[in-house]
Amino acid sequence: MHRVLVTGGAGFLGSHLCERLLERGDEVVCLDNYFTGRRRNVEHLLGHKRFELLRHDVVEPVLLEVDRIYNLACPASPVHYQYNAVKTVKTSVMGAINMLGLAKRTKARILQASTSEVYGDPEMHPQKEDYWGHVNPVGIRSCYDEGKRVAETLFMDYHRQNQVDIRIVRIFNTYGPRMHPNDGRVVSNFIVQALQGEDITIYGDGSQTRSFCFVDDLIEGFLRLMEAEGPDIHLPVNIGNPGEFTIRELAEKIISLTGSSSKIVCHPLPSDDPRQRRPDIARAQTLLDWSPSIDLAQGLEKTVAYFRDELSA
Ligand code: NAD
Ligand code: UDP
Repeated sequence: MHRVLVTGGAGFLGSHLCERLLERGDEVVCLDNYFTGRRRNVEHLLGHKRFELLRHDVVEPVLLEVDRIYNLACPASPVHYQYNAVKTVKTSVMGAINMLGLAKRTKARILQASTSEVYGDPEMHPQKEDYWGHVNPVGIRSCYDEGKRVAETLFMDYHRQNQVDIRIVRIFNTYGPRMHPNDGRVVSNFIVQALQGEDITIYGDGSQTRSFCFVDDLIEGFLRLMEAEGPDIHLPVNIGNPGEFTIRELAEKIISLTGSSSKIVCHPLPSDDPRQRRPDIARAQTLLDWSPSIDLAQGLEKTVAYFRDELSA
């Protein structure tokens, strides 16, 4: 049993992670400032005797005694991370410093929720962990991309300089129940639009690609990486589903799955929107014996069922 801190624990991924950790017998401290997360996401865990909820902002230090830290605190949707770009950088950078400081003091093992965005608009396809990326340092996505890149740098430097036991997971687009209806990311936007009979908003011509991972698969990858040992285990690991789809294909799948009468409309493509994205997961397969088990059709079905309930409540 571990005493685990989950920062960003009241968010989409964080709430699923807290649930899984409690199920396997850990004690969980869930820390969140509720910027994009909701108390409601973890309400069902509040009575649990091994669960504690803490309102706190990771840009400020926190004194806790833990032996595992999952650092997820950071808005993940472009709409939300661009809302206060300076704060996004502070959250990634100062949040990483504060959580690494905590890990150093308590000798806790710490996992960073990094992102496929560290590859930017990638010229290597699919993306392998040793690709350094193609990131605009001064664009509208930079607060997130560069913030996460600096966080990776800090993790590696605390590891080299202070022997902090780190793990870095590069998460590729993940979706599922408990995404906020106004989250702004593509899967939740399209499902909500389809269920409400509104136009489906494709940005650009919809030929850009993404690879979508269902949340349960991703959380399994987190847990395996956190507990895995080995000489190179502190280096980044991609976790995602290699099934690659154009955004137009995604829209069409969601229309057909929901039986919606919604029409597809095209809006301007935001700047620096990556053209293509697909993880090479060979490293996760070898190190963690992990690969995704839920394909897009199955995952979308579960997610649509969640939003149907959510929107009718
Ligand atoms: P989310 O927005 O639902 O969750 C982020 C959580 O962090 C929210 O609960 C938010 O309130 C909290 N938070 C934000 N700033 C904070 C701060 N300063 N202090 C404390 N809490 C703060 O998004 P998510 O999809 O659950 O993402 C979780 C993590 O995974 C993020 O770090 C994100 O960058 C990373 N990630 C997610 C995806 C994905 O597809 N879901 C992809 C790549 C990376
Ligand atoms: N997108 C879209 N319509 C939407 C929301 C997003 O066409 O309503 C596109 C967006 O431009 C991007 C892709 O879908 O090309 C994935 O966007 P998302 O914000 O989910 O994540 P990203 O991978 O870009 O961070």
